[in-house]
Parts: sequence; structure tokens; C-alpha cells
Amino acid sequence: MTLASGGPRRIGVFGGTFDPPHIAHLVAAIEAREVLELDVVLLVVANVPWQKEGTREISSAEHRLEMVRACAAEVEGLEVSDMEIRRGDKSYTADTLAELLASEPQAELFVIVGRDAAAGFTTWERHDEVAQMASLVVVDRPGQHSEPDPNHSWIRVDVADLEISSTDLRARIKAGRSIKFLIPEGAASVIERLKLYR
Ligand code: NAP
Repeated sequence: MTLASGGPRRIGVFGGTFDPPHIAHLVAAIEAREVLELDVVLLVVANVPWQKEGTREISSAEHRLEMVRACAAEVEGLEVSDMEIRRGDKSYTADTLAELLASEPQAELFVIVGRDAAAGFTTWERHDEVAQMASLVVVDRPGQHSEPDPNHSWIRVDVADLEISSTDLRARIKAGRSIKFLIPEGAASVIERLKLYR
């Protein structure tokens, strides 16, 4: 599918800790790109996901970036961004959007999140700035819509309901169980090589 519009780019920003990334992330990103006719969806790997700090051990940003790169390789319309890692410190989406707009002022930005992230949107640092700079998109299961934060307007994109979570995948790997078909092979190879989540 080619969506190049010729005008200002429509850019999806799908951020995550991606510890590890999995096929539901990819399905959501691809579906949002198609439905919203986005030129590209950036998979933005968080440097320090500050709301998760202290809750568990988080893989290094470099390892998470390597896994996401392996996942997105050769998927049309998806690009991996290391801008939050290069910026360092805690990752705030407001800063990421401001940086994108500084380099591409005409771009139209769409922040894409899952239903839990959407429900907690007002806990985000400077969330009002995020809502000013970008349209907010929640990817959700068809027919069973959750309640995203009601103070902002949300675009809903229905995606196949894949009950896959990074938490479950880490537990599977630790227990020596298979992750085949849940994580793209390239990323599974990175996990194997780096002996992550053992
Ligand atoms: P994550 O756990 O790696 O998840 C990445 C995204 O994928 C989330 O939107 C998540 O939504 C969604 N997702 C996960 N499993 C899914 C499934 N099976 N089907 C559909 N969607 C699924 O990343 P995260 O730590 O939640 O971070 C998400 C983004 O929010 C990051 O960019 C982070 O920086 C940003 N954030 C920003 C702030 C701030 O202060 N600016 C605060 C918190 C988070 P669900 O959570 O609904 O699963």
C-alpha cells in the first residue's frame, strides 16, 4: 500500500517500552496506518519509561531498540525511532512531538495508544500539550469499546483483539515456553542471542 500524499506528512507516533515488542504491536501500528491513511508510523522506543521505573527490571533501551528494529524490518510504512533514547533521561511524549514538529512543522501527528494507555492518558506529563500537538488515537477491540480519558476527543481504530502482552511473553521465555508466532522471528533471535528474560 502506498499512501504518499505529496502534502504535509501524516505521521503516526506509536510509542512503547517494547519489552519485548510483539505481533499485537505490529498489527495495531499497521491497522492504524491503513485506516487513518498515514504516510508512516514511527515506533518510538522509550528511553526511560518513567511510569514503569521501579516496578520491575526493564531491559536496556539499546536491547529494546534492537528487538523493535528486527520486528519492523521490511514492514512497509513502519519506521523505528531512537529519538527518545538519543534525547536521554525520562521519556515524555510531549517532548517527542515537539521535536518532530521542530523538524517538520507542517506534519500532522497522530499519537496511537492501546486502551489501557488511553485510559491513563491524563497521568502523562504535560498531556494537554500532547493533545494540542497531535490527534489522539486509541486502538481497541472491535465492538467492545473501552473508555479512554473523557477530557479529550479520541479517534477509535478497531484492531483484531490479540490477547498478547509483553508481561506474558517475559514469563513464557523465563519458563522456557515457546514464543513462536507471538514475536517476529528476527526479534526472537535477538532475545535468544542476548539471553534476555531468562
Ligand atoms: P508498551 O507496554 O510497550 O505498549 C506499547 C503500546 O502498545 C501501548 O499503547 C499499549 O497499550 C499497546 N499494546 C500493548 N499490547 C497490545 C495489544 N495486545 N493490543 C493492542 N495494543 C497493545 O508501552 P508503554 O510503556 O505502555 O508506553 C506506551 C507509550 O506511552 C510510550 O510512548 C510511552 O512513552 C508513553 N507514555 C508517556 C507518558 C508521558 O508522560 N508522556 C507516560 C506514560 C506512557 P496498552 O497499555 O493499552 O496495552
